[in-house]
Amino acid sequence: MEEAKKELKEKQAIKEKLEKNYKEKIKECALHSASSLNYDSDLIKKEILIAHNDFDKFLLALKQNKKPAIVSGINPSGPLHLGHAVIFKELVNLQKQGANVFIPLSNDESYVTKKASSLAEAKEIAIKDVIPSLIALGFKPGKTYIHIDSDYLDIYNLAMHLSMKLTFNRVKGVFGFDELSTPGSFFYMGAIQQAHILLPQIKEFGGPKITTVPVGFDQHPYILLTRVVAEKNKMIPPGELIFNFLPSLLNPLEKMSASKPDTCIYLTDSPEEAELKLKRSYTGGLKSGKDQQDLGGVPEICPIFLIQKYHFLNLKETENLENKCKNGKILCGECKKQCIEYVKKFLKDHHKKREKAKKQINKFLIKERIDIKQF
Ligand code: SF4
Repeated sequence: MEEAKKELKEKQAIKEKLEKNYKEKIKECALHSASSLNYDSDLIKKEILIAHNDFDKFLLALKQNKKPAIVSGINPSGPLHLGHAVIFKELVNLQKQGANVFIPLSNDESYVTKKASSLAEAKEIAIKDVIPSLIALGFKPGKTYIHIDSDYLDIYNLAMHLSMKLTFNRVKGVFGFDELSTPGSFFYMGAIQQAHILLPQIKEFGGPKITTVPVGFDQHPYILLTRVVAEKNKMIPPGELIFNFLPSLLNPLEKMSASKPDTCIYLTDSPEEAELKLKRSYTGGLKSGKDQQDLGGVPEICPIFLIQKYHFLNLKETENLENKCKNGKILCGECKKQCIEYVKKFLKDHHKKREKAKKQINKFLIKERIDIKQF
């Protein structure tokens, strides 16, 4: 029993560490808690959507039918996974309420960060794996603007123009470069990212508008700089939305990663592959079933619990499962079985939709050319 108590304490310590990190980061980045928003969303009640900047303005623009924009980029180093799907499902929901959604696929980033062996390989992943899944999640043509960086060269013209408005001191102030830093990669990816985020505000897409960007805390400095660049270009500074991440199947302190297949369930995984990954997954439970019945588990750090919470259970069902786990009323074997059923059903349905989506890719790709005379 002493051993089991120690095991439980270690898992609770991971939970506390994660919660503390989130709280500190929200404060450090001067973001606002999502719970203060006037937005009736299960994602907020479940503490999946946790913080924001200017999302209240975005919601007001939606209400006033001003067609705000959302920009959510993907670095196509692998297919979409369940972590990405949490965010994109919410974007589909916001699109239904009137927002336009821009999805830049930065195969150049996959290449320069060595997450793909070539630009062409990352482009192929974007076309074969990523775009069909995005369409299958429910995005609508005419309101969804997807591009692949290396195919949409106009984005580089916009990046070039925007990069002229950023001084070295401003960048240094945000990132704190020292003699060991490699600012070259920042200037490259930072400028492209600013072009992605501000693309909806150029005249070809209707001019300045309220925009929001779902990001992780690590991206916050880039948003700060983009806000500066936006103002200097008479655009509206973009807001941001912070989601709690879905952890790796192998380590509760890391995110699911598209370039590490064992950490995540890809939306392209076969139901059997997904089952195998989930069976091997880390859990918040204890080694011995008997000890877990006596002491309970730690669902807050358990990918099996969180996958169900983020994708398949409503608020009440989530609370029920959480309580059952904490009270030792359910063990990991049964819980995994339930999660596997949900995921397999979701994947079978998603794969059918992907097949239809493959024929519609062209309807979602940006056709608008950017007029360089405006720069
Ligand atoms: Fe995770 Fe379920 Fe095990 Fe609890 S019972 S630790 S939620 S797998």
